Amino acid sequence: MAPQQVCVVGAGVSGLSTAVSIQQELSSKVVVSIVADKFSPETTSDGSGGFWGPHLVNPDQADDINKWGNETFDYIFDLFRSEHGGDVGAQLISGYCFSNSAIPFVDKCIGVRNLTKEESNIHPDTKNGQTLTTVMIDVKAYLPWLMKKFQANGGIVLKRKISSLDELSPYYDVIVNCTGLGAHYLLDDHDLRPVRGQVFRVRAPWIKHFYVDIDESNPENEIYILPGAREVVLGGTSQVGDWNTQVDSADRDLIWNGCCKLLPSLKKAEVLEEWVGLRPQRTRIRVELDRKHTGREGNAAIVHNYGHGGSGVTLHWGCAQEATRLVVRALKNAIPKSNL
Ligand SMILES: Cc1cc2nc3c(=O)[nH]c(=O)nc-3n(C[C@H](O)[C@H](O)[C@H](O)COP(=O)(O)OP(=O)(O)OC[C@H]3O[C@@H](n4cnc5c(N)ncnc54)[C@H](O)[C@@H]3O)c2cc1C
Repeated sequence: MAPQQVCVVGAGVSGLSTAVSIQQELSSKVVVSIVADKFSPETTSDGSGGFWGPHLVNPDQADDINKWGNETFDYIFDLFRSEHGGDVGAQLISGYCFSNSAIPFVDKCIGVRNLTKEESNIHPDTKNGQTLTTVMIDVKAYLPWLMKKFQANGGIVLKRKISSLDELSPYYDVIVNCTGLGAHYLLDDHDLRPVRGQVFRVRAPWIKHFYVDIDESNPENEIYILPGAREVVLGGTSQVGDWNTQVDSADRDLIWNGCCKLLPSLKKAEVLEEWVGLRPQRTRIRVELDRKHTGREGNAAIVHNYGHGGSGVTLHWGCAQEATRLVVRALKNAIPKSNL
């Protein structure tokens, strides 16, 4: 029997991980293609801090967040311990979350406990919070690693901007929509909105812990310091509904001054880059088989995997596996294109 055709639209962390996950599950039964207009290093995913910690998610979707987040935590943890850990900059990272309330969704992390008095004193204004160990990944290394894996498994790559999923429907049995914020236009999904994030990337190899300072009275401006495998990310802003992708000088001052107040040694860090990305936020992250396009009528079935907000990396492998299960279900129902 001829292999069935699956097309993943999008080459950020959601698209690449979903494409590889489908290949792993179905191997020679399918040919998987990726169609995208932007690839690494030009996707939103490339600019992410790569930090595992559910951020800007809807507590009403807690069951999904915990499931997808826990699966992804285990996956990054295993990568860190594997021979590939160095290739993708996977690491265990300990640090401090300064907050007046308990940090949600971190049960999976290692050694979660309240700060001691000495640890609270690390904050310049002495602040309570929690310490924990989580995982991180260097997304700029991880995406090319996934792409290499995808192509080695026989995956096909097409660089193209599409204006409707219908354009692809005649050629594929299942289309998986991993377009991030692009779905706002592609599907006219106005529940999907940008949450603007501005960050610095600096060289500061003496920083070995993460620091997150949550200001409950002003959630738009959380100060964070995330030391990855190659560079330290300093952030950041979370401006809901803001489509501006230019670096803003007021945000620059806020982030720099906030991070240097928290950790004055950063004043001597070398600035490598300033960057703005738009997080694709939705009321609920959408990982589902589209009820209007199930493939039963001979058209391509459509599976969605987008709208991960500030947690695309944190949830990606769990979501990729969920999307893969939906693809398997859709392929069973679909009339194969090769039979039409
Ligand atoms: C400053 C900042 C820091 C962040 N830090 C973290 C973090 O530490 N941890 C974490 O978990 N998350 C973090 N995030 C969130 C994370 O980056 C996103 O949730 C994630 O990148 C979304 O990935 P994605 O693959 O869905 O979308 P994207 O990376 O945006 O990829 C979308 C893909 O779809 C393609 N596409 C879109 N429309 C079309 C079209 N019409 N035709 C063809 N192709 C199309 C694009 O070209 C691209 O390839 C951060 C975000 C920002 C902005």
